[in-house]
Amino acid sequence: MLSHLILGCSPYYFRYGGAPRFGGGGGGSRGGPPQGKFGNPGERLRKKHWNMDELPKFEKNFYQEHPDVTQVENYLRSKEVTVKGRDCPKPMMKFHEANFPNYVMDVIAKQGWAEPTPIQAQGWPLALSGKDMVGIAQTGSGKTLAYLLPAIVHIQHQPFLEHGDGPICLVLAPTRELAQQVQQVAAEYGRASRLKSVCVYGGAPKGPQIRDLERGVEICIATPGRLIDFLEAGKTNLRRCTYLVLDEADRMLDMGFEPQIRKIVDQIRPDRQTLMWSATWPKEVRQLAEDFLKQYVQINVGALQLSANHNILQIVDVCNDGEKDDKLLRLLEEIMSEKENKTIIFTETKRRCDELTRRMRRDGWPAMGIHGDKSQQERDWVLNEFKYGKAPILIATDVASRGLVFLT
Ligand code: AMP
Repeated sequence: MLSHLILGCSPYYFRYGGAPRFGGGGGGSRGGPPQGKFGNPGERLRKKHWNMDELPKFEKNFYQEHPDVTQVENYLRSKEVTVKGRDCPKPMMKFHEANFPNYVMDVIAKQGWAEPTPIQAQGWPLALSGKDMVGIAQTGSGKTLAYLLPAIVHIQHQPFLEHGDGPICLVLAPTRELAQQVQQVAAEYGRASRLKSVCVYGGAPKGPQIRDLERGVEICIATPGRLIDFLEAGKTNLRRCTYLVLDEADRMLDMGFEPQIRKIVDQIRPDRQTLMWSATWPKEVRQLAEDFLKQYVQINVGALQLSANHNILQIVDVCNDGEKDDKLLRLLEEIMSEKENKTIIFTETKRRCDELTRRMRRDGWPAMGIHGDKSQQERDWVLNEFKYGKAPILIATDVASRGLVFLT
């Protein structure tokens, strides 16, 4: 289990210890590709002009309030859930109130969870009722199931895919790591219902991803760049897409994906259901919500201001640049004296990541580094070495800052 997370962010150290839950917080450095690196992404994609009268009708409201749903004010207050917007259904405090199909309930039952997390409790009725929504929630809040389980219900109510149809549910995610993590969950819950999913991301061979898409998948989880490539090349299409999820929207904007996201959303019928998730709510994210969502309801769990995850002990050690490396090594000696401990060290830049990895390896530490300039194959390999404890110290730029649950 991961025991320490160190953010090397000159001139501070942040040392995290305690429970293995991580709040993203969106405060990471802008490690993504700079705007313009992609040229003009999707320039061959034409903006679609929709004639709503010609589009086949589809259902998106599957919500029926369960008779057990009771007074909810205390629940919302105690879980710090705030709701903005009109006609938001009451939260579901028990799993059975969501009326999910039995095969979904069976998978939930196996997890042994006590109750829905707050974002699920309020997100499920909202998503099942077909409304557009914004969820301000962090990694670790249970947001993946908050949008995936209603997606399964949505898909089950649509006509079967026909040859040449693209996905019904599209999830856009900023990084390969997050996209893969979401797909694992989609596969686990979709298996029993025979829903197929694919994870589409850059830096890996296109062939297998294209083959999956061509075979027909109901759920596609994609990073924006690779999906644009496939749309331009006609390897898939979004004609059947009626359920769109933008996961970690703040992070996608931070990474410069806005032009790609806009091109992709232009390809999806406007009466789709759109669910947007973000750890933070800056004006750029609000603008995206205004542009893509209709009369949406926003739910927020926890304090409205950005705050750190209370499950994590944080120690901030203010020091000079010159002192940092020695302090770090002293700290590691203490942490790594326990064999089973693992540590992630975040650096702000790729260069610093390489330098520190080199220095630590020279000093005999079992450290490995990842950042955006490493090949996908190398990143996969390093993550696996870390995950299975062969290299218990991971040095990373913020390519690894989300989806940490995946690593532990
Ligand atoms: P997420 O925020 O989607 O990344 O989920 C974080 C973790 O919470 C995952 O490991 C889930 O398996 C777990 N999780 C999801 N729903 C629940 C729940 N209702 N109770 C306890 N854990 C959950």
